[in-house]
Amino acid sequence: MSKKGLKERLDQGPVICAEGFLFEIERRGYMSSGEFVPMVSLEHPEALENLHRDFQHAGSDIVEAFTYNGHREKMRVIGKEELLEPLNRSALKIAKKVALDTPKGIEPNLMAGNISNSNIWNDKDTSSNTEVEKMFSEMVGWAVDEGADILIGETFYYAEEAYTALKVMKQSGLPCVITIAPMGENIMRDGVSILDTCKELEQRGGDVVGMNCFRGPNTMMPYLKEIRKALKCHVAALPINYRTTKEHPTFFNLPDNNGCTCHTPHRTPFPTALDPMQCNRYEIGEFAKEAFSLGVNYLGVCCGANPMLIREVAEAVGLTVPASKYREDMSSHFLFGTHERIAQHQKDYKSKA
Ligand SMILES: [Zn+2]
Repeated sequence: MSKKGLKERLDQGPVICAEGFLFEIERRGYMSSGEFVPMVSLEHPEALENLHRDFQHAGSDIVEAFTYNGHREKMRVIGKEELLEPLNRSALKIAKKVALDTPKGIEPNLMAGNISNSNIWNDKDTSSNTEVEKMFSEMVGWAVDEGADILIGETFYYAEEAYTALKVMKQSGLPCVITIAPMGENIMRDGVSILDTCKELEQRGGDVVGMNCFRGPNTMMPYLKEIRKALKCHVAALPINYRTTKEHPTFFNLPDNNGCTCHTPHRTPFPTALDPMQCNRYEIGEFAKEAFSLGVNYLGVCCGANPMLIREVAEAVGLTVPASKYREDMSSHFLFGTHERIAQHQKDYKSKA
């Protein structure tokens, strides 16, 4: 089956991209939280393949190789630099395999190579910034080698680091998605506004520009509206699925909304005790619907994503996906059902249940 490119797909309608693999793989028991290194592509490749297949079944049109944090700097921190290239190549090969293996009658998905925030970028001391560029270059090289259809640069909180990522990605000639993740100060760490960063990324050739991670629907939407209005290119929106607030715009300092501090050994609920602050599927669906109505065609969920939420995003913008077969059906529920065979004493009891 022939495969359309990213821009063609976006021109025709919504394109769904699952992200947030770090949290989901940790939740499934294949990664250490805090350290957050995607060794899963080497240590449990079957778990990573299953994750991609689950998201694809739920409607993701893009299989993004799980190389987030799989860069030279992080591998140095954990003393496993020799595994850098094998990790990247394995993640890319798994993503490619799943992207090509779509269900019968469904167009093959796009495989995306991925680079992200290096965490050594520094606007005050630029000595390590050339190192960051080299890190990006080697990862983009492996992605091209392994047959990436597009490249995604994501979660940048320095404007200049995002520009550098885009510059390196563009050298490949592949379509480039670039998304930023401003922290709670609501400005990039090097002082550029969120909107100006996005405008600049468009000027520098980003095919899709937008935001991902750190922010939930409530604190991402106001910026998305400005971005959509100001840019001509396609715009991306991939929030986390946590109820961030004006007071706490990101998940880093989000307090437990039940006032509970006793169930986490860390200073904040991030990253292992955020569960009570999760958005429900309908909130995520509403966000996707609103974003799409504004003209944001590249949609997904970042940290906290699970396949059911990706299905919700897809369905909220009018798509039917393989997992739509299993959308909820309460009509035959033993208490809340409306089916004629549901026993009357159960229907009568439901308010006391
Ligand atoms: Zn994320």
